[in-house]
Amino acid sequence: MPLVAAMTEPADDRPAPWYDPPPAGFHFEAVAEGDDWELDSTRTCRRSAVGGRFPRPGCGRQSVAVLWRKYGANGRRRWAYCEDHMYGRWIEDGKIMHWILKADEDG
Ligand SMILES: [Zn+2]
Repeated sequence: MPLVAAMTEPADDRPAPWYDPPPAGFHFEAVAEGDDWELDSTRTCRRSAVGGRFPRPGCGRQSVAVLWRKYGANGRRRWAYCEDHMYGRWIEDGKIMHWILKADEDG
């Protein structure tokens, strides 16, 4: 049952940080996202065919998370993403995680 196995696997396969290795004097820390990201598996990934001069094929997969983005003067809209299109984020212990770059000598 590969599907079940994939869903229950612990999140030990974090995506690689965007520099590998980090620049000298810095290291990466995994931190949880703030309120603008939340778990939501009821939507469809918004990564779509709208791609300017070079349209991409739509993703169309089930979302795992949504990003609340400002819309208009005081509205917000949910932008849903599947696990492949969260820009390096990942889900761990029910939280949406991402890497931050920190200076080694911090205080
Ligand atoms: Zn996607």
